[in-house]
Amino acid sequence: MTTIETRPHDVLIIGAGGAGLRAAVACIEAGHSVGVVCKSLLGKAHTVMAEGGMAASLAHVDDRDGWTTHFRDTMVGGYRLNNPRMAELHAKEAPERVRELEEWGAVFDRTKDGRILQRPFGGHTYPRLAHVGDRTGLELIRTLQDRSVAVGAQVYQEVIITRLSMKDGQVNGAVGYRRLDGAPVAFPAKAVVLASGGVGRAFAVTSNSWESSGDGQGLAYRSGAEFIDMEFVQFHPTGMVHPAGVKGLLVTEAVRGEGGILRNADGKRFMWDYLPEARRDEYAATDEEARAWVDDLTEGRQSSHRRPPELSTRDNVARAIYTEVKEGRGSPHGGVFLDISYLPAERVRAKLPSMYEQFKELADVDITAGPMEVGPTMHYIMGGIKVDAEIGQTTTPGLYAAGEVAAGLHGSNRLGGNSLTDLLVFGRRAGEAAAQAAAATEAMPELDQGFVDESIAAMYAPFEREAGEDPNGLHAELQATMSSLVGIFRVEEDLTQAIERIDGYKERWQGLRVTGPRRFNPAWDLVFELRNMLVVAEAIARSALARQESRGAHSRLDFPGQQEGWDEVNVHTLRGDGGMVVEQRPVVELPAELAEHVAPKVPAKV
Ligand code: FAD
Repeated sequence: MTTIETRPHDVLIIGAGGAGLRAAVACIEAGHSVGVVCKSLLGKAHTVMAEGGMAASLAHVDDRDGWTTHFRDTMVGGYRLNNPRMAELHAKEAPERVRELEEWGAVFDRTKDGRILQRPFGGHTYPRLAHVGDRTGLELIRTLQDRSVAVGAQVYQEVIITRLSMKDGQVNGAVGYRRLDGAPVAFPAKAVVLASGGVGRAFAVTSNSWESSGDGQGLAYRSGAEFIDMEFVQFHPTGMVHPAGVKGLLVTEAVRGEGGILRNADGKRFMWDYLPEARRDEYAATDEEARAWVDDLTEGRQSSHRRPPELSTRDNVARAIYTEVKEGRGSPHGGVFLDISYLPAERVRAKLPSMYEQFKELADVDITAGPMEVGPTMHYIMGGIKVDAEIGQTTTPGLYAAGEVAAGLHGSNRLGGNSLTDLLVFGRRAGEAAAQAAAATEAMPELDQGFVDESIAAMYAPFEREAGEDPNGLHAELQATMSSLVGIFRVEEDLTQAIERIDGYKERWQGLRVTGPRRFNPAWDLVFELRNMLVVAEAIARSALARQESRGAHSRLDFPGQQEGWDEVNVHTLRGDGGMVVEQRPVVELPAELAEHVAPKVPAKV
């Protein structure tokens, strides 16, 4: 029997990104003690990297905007697989959450008359993204970090949670270890909120931070919680393509939002060729019209012109770039050109300061003088843990989820800017619900000693093996498999091969060995992260194999186009007795009062 450091809290929040911190504020304001755990330092969560902005229909730049248009854009952008109640709540509550952030100290860019400035982004009908230059995530995290600490959140930094504890089918806490000294820590809790972010590290080229290894998804899966929509992985169209060391680093959509033009190696503005027929009317038809729209934007005028073709949805732009490169019209480093240098240099530097510095320092390119080279990078996962729309409750009692780890809002394709407001709207809702659950539980749970002992033994097992494989090699193989066989374009043969390989990786995971100290040992961290990445990888590959059509971010070369009936099902994945189970279940129906806000369905190609 081992005695370990034990930190009981009414509510334990795993993750200190936007979702976790907003949940923490909600819990504490409801009068509960909250522990927030994060793998890195407070303020370093992946959210800090968010650049372009947060989508909310404040209607400061275009007074035609409102929640119904935001709702419609989200549903249409997600190809109607979204949970309509989540899309409704998000569209309705996002403006209030943004204003609240401002009251708590966030300093947004301003319109000429002093209101929060909003910029255009792909798939949004009107300029809708509240922003702080191209450093919006930094401002969001700074504000929420100050607020959560001020109201009394207890933050455990550089702690990795490895297991959720359960009693009678209900989650009652978690265990993990401190990266500083490798010591185990137990967190008994009346309710647990997962806010642990995305899964980018399962892919070879990604814009995500090192923390995005699908830990929350893995923890939830092993507790019996379900996933939905795991086939929908967003490849952002514009990541850096060189130098090799920064391949995948994000080039924010704000570059296109501010007027950036995409051209291939022949100098052709190719996005005109890729606009979906049904939505062509929403985009400018000529260079002149697109330029007039940019001029209006630059002057801060509400535009009567249609937006440039580069502001098509991300799935579409990513496929367009991929196709241009594959067909031999790519740039020297295997991307395409993105040019904003035709605008005045001082405007580019003011609106895109991080991009200016990023290219100057990393690629020796001055974006005010010439084009950038860009290509697709794995960026976001629309799928994740299935949650109740109102309160973020997962299918495991006692376990809540919010932010990128959860699914439902974005359907098959997320619109840029909708994640940051997702974190605020559903982080708050999950925090409030967890607080209510905690209030209804009298005694603080005690973690079962057998569970604690077993968890500690599993934690240290990789150090105790006399022989075994290094986790880095296995990780690299998984990343290569996901990027080459489960990437932007998919076919049955590749997906089947990926699943076979992942089965093999799971076997090999059992024998991973780690050497060296317990203090800050990244290979040790990777063992637990890999276990979660393998769950996520399998769920993505199996869901992608199940969905026999192309929709949103999921493109099957063997099933091109949207197919009849597939807009009526979500693919669910969950743990069964013999392994992962895949099920198709009906989508949440769009109620009549919401259906009127969404354009009629475009018939599927059969
Ligand atoms: P994260 O911010 O990823 O935080 C996860 C937290 O969980 C971290 O604190 C981590 O340490 C912790 N954690 C994870 N696993 C464990 C574990 N095992 N134990 C303990 N702690 C753990 N979206 C927009 O809407 N607008 C944008 O402009 C935008 N720009 C982006 C730019 C980039 C470069 C990228 C990659 C994404 C961008 N996104 C943007 C998407 C958005 O930033 C993310 O979806 C969002 O920040 C995720 O927030 P989160 O709170 O869910 O999780």
